[in-house]
Amino acid sequence: MAAPGFREGGCVCGGLRFKAWGEPLRVTICHCLWCQRRTGTAFGTEVVYPEERVELLGETLVRYRHMSDESGRWLDVEFCGRCGGNLGFRLEAAPGIRTLPAGTFDDATWLSPAGQTFRQVFVRSRRDWADASPLVEMHERHFRN
Ligand SMILES: [Zn+2]
Ligand SMILES: [Zn+2]
Repeated sequence: MAAPGFREGGCVCGGLRFKAWGEPLRVTICHCLWCQRRTGTAFGTEVVYPEERVELLGETLVRYRHMSDESGRWLDVEFCGRCGGNLGFRLEAAPGIRTLPAGTFDDATWLSPAGQTFRQVFVRSRRDWADASPLVEMHERHFRN
C-alpha cells in the first residue's frame, strides 16, 4: 500500500490538530530527565520531521521556552493551552526539525522499528521499570554526541 500524503493527529480535546506530510526522518525515544518531567512519564517518544512538513491547526497553541541546564540552549515546547496535551517541540540544537509525540497521531500503528529508524537516547537516566525493545539502538547521551 502506498504511503499516505499526510498523517493526522492532535491533542486530547481536539483544539489543536496537525498534519504531517511524508515520512518522518526518525523516531527518538528520549529518556532524559527533561523528557521525563515534560511528559510526566518514563520517556518521550518523538517522531521527527522537517519543520516545513508539519502543519499545526487550531487556536489553542501555547509555547514554552525551556533553557537546557546541560547545554544552555533553548527548547520550545508546544502544547494545547486548553487540555495541556503535548504536541512536541523544536530545539536550538537541531535547527529545521520539529517533533510530534508518537501517541498524538490518530493512528500510530504505522510506527515501527521495521519501517523507521528508531533510537533510544539518554539511556543513562532510563528507568528500569520501562522495558526497552531490543530492536532499537541505544545511546548513553544523544546520538549526535
Ligand atoms: Zn487540547
Ligand atoms: Zn529528552
